[in-house]
Amino acid sequence: MVNDLFQKIVSLSKRRGFVFQSSEIYGGFGGAYDFGPLGVELKRNIKKAWWEEMTRGQENIVGLDAAILMTPKVWQASGHLTAGFADELVECKSCHKRFRIEEIKENKCPQCGGKLTKPRKFNLMMKTFIGPVEEKAAKAYLRPETCQGIYVNFENIVNSMRLKIPFGVAQIGKAFRNEINPKDFIYRTREFEQMEMQWFSQPKDAPKYFEYWKKERINWYLNLGIKKENLRVREVPAKERSHYAKRQIDIEYKFPFGWQEIEGVHNRGDFDLSNHSKYSGKDLQYFDEENKKKYFPYIIETSIGVDRSLFAFLADSYLEVKGGRTKTTKSSKETEALLKLHKSLAPIKVAVLPLVKNKPKLVKKAKDVYKTLKSHFVCQYDEVGSIGRRYRRQDEIGTLFCLTVDFDSLKQKDLTIRERDTMKQKRVKIKDLKETIDKILRIRYKA
Ligand code: ATP
Repeated sequence: MVNDLFQKIVSLSKRRGFVFQSSEIYGGFGGAYDFGPLGVELKRNIKKAWWEEMTRGQENIVGLDAAILMTPKVWQASGHLTAGFADELVECKSCHKRFRIEEIKENKCPQCGGKLTKPRKFNLMMKTFIGPVEEKAAKAYLRPETCQGIYVNFENIVNSMRLKIPFGVAQIGKAFRNEINPKDFIYRTREFEQMEMQWFSQPKDAPKYFEYWKKERINWYLNLGIKKENLRVREVPAKERSHYAKRQIDIEYKFPFGWQEIEGVHNRGDFDLSNHSKYSGKDLQYFDEENKKKYFPYIIETSIGVDRSLFAFLADSYLEVKGGRTKTTKSSKETEALLKLHKSLAPIKVAVLPLVKNKPKLVKKAKDVYKTLKSHFVCQYDEVGSIGRRYRRQDEIGTLFCLTVDFDSLKQKDLTIRERDTMKQKRVKIKDLKETIDKILRIRYKA
C-alpha cells in the first residue's frame, strides 16, 4: 500500500507533467529532475507561500539572492571542505553500488547481499573550475547550502537596511550535493532548491527564538493543508548533529517510504559569523547601540527543501475515490484520483470547458471566458472528451474550479462553476466570475 502510493505519485508526476527524470531520452541522469508545466507552477506556489510567510507574515525579515558561486575560502571557513561535510561511504564488492553508512542494516549490501568495503569519508561538495584552465588554483564549488551567502553579506545587509537585532534574512535558491546515493524520487537529489531563513539575535535569546521558529514552521505546513498526523518533530541527539549545531530538530514527514526529514531548525550559535570573521579578517560582530555592547549574534536557522516539500504536498493531497465521484456512466466503476492541494498551491486555479466542442457559438463563448480569466488566474481550456472525463482530468491535477459553458450560457450570460472538493455546482453570471473566484482565492492561506 505504502509503495503503491509512491508509485502512484511518480506515475502521476510524469503523466500529468509535474516531474520528469532529467535527460530521460538519454536514459536519465542520476539525482536530477526536471519540473514540467504543472510542476513548475506548484513549485512557484510553494516558494511564494514560504516567501510571503517569511517576509510579510513575520516581522523584521528581509530577503537576499546571493550567487551560487563563491570564493572557496567561504567553504574553508564554514567547515564544508573539512570533515564536517563528508558522508561515510561503503561500496559493495560485487555490484559496486555505494551506500551511506546509515543505510546499512546488516553488514552486507542492501541491494545484492554482497560483501562491503571498509567505510571511507566522501566529501559532498560539487567541484567545478572557473576560467579556461583546469588547475587547482581555479577550483570552485557549487554551494551545498544557501545560507553562507547570508552570513558573508551580514554586514552589507545590516548597514544597507539599518537593521536592529533581532532580525532575519530569507533566501530561496539552488544547492548542490554530490549525494552518494540519490534516491526516492525527488526526496534525495544532487541538485535541489532550499528555502532558508537565518534569524540573528542576542545569544541569550536564541533558545527562546528556537522554540518560536519550531512552532511557526510546523504551523506553515498545517496552514497549507498538510495532515497533522503526517508531521512530527525529532530532537537530533548531539552525536548526530551537523558540525555547526548547538541544537537541532528535524521536522519529519511521513513519506510513502517512511518518516524522513523535510526541514531542519538549527541553533548555529556564533559558529558562522565568528569563523567568517577569522578567515576573512573582517570583524563581523554586531554593535548593539542600546546595550553599548559588541558581540557575535546567535543564529537560528530554518532550512527546508523545495523539492522534498513538493513531494510531501503531492503525497499528502493525493486521494482515491473508489467507484467514482463524478458519476459519469463510464467512470462509475473506476477509481478516481483527486489532488486535494491547498488553494494557494494548486497549479491550475480554473478550467474552462465548453459542454460540447462541435457548437461554434458555445466554443466561442467558452474561449472568451478563458481569455478574460487567464490574465488573472492560471487557467486551462479543455474541450476534449465527455464533460465527466474532463472533470476527472482536472480533479487529478488539483484544479480548484471547473467552469462549464452550456446552451443556457448563451442566453443567460452565466455558466456553471464546480468546486473541486465538494463537487458542488452553481450558476454564476459571467461578469461576476472574476470577483467570485478572486474572493475565494484572496482569503490568506493562514486562517
Ligand atoms: P539529509 O540528512 O536528509 O541528507 P541534511 O540534514 O543534510 O539532510 P540539511 O543540510 O539540514 O539536510 O538541509 C536542509 C534541507 O534541505 C533538508 O531538510 C532537505 O529538505 C533539503 N535537502 C538537503 N539535502 C537534500 C537533497 N540531497 N535532496 C533534496 N533536498 C535536500
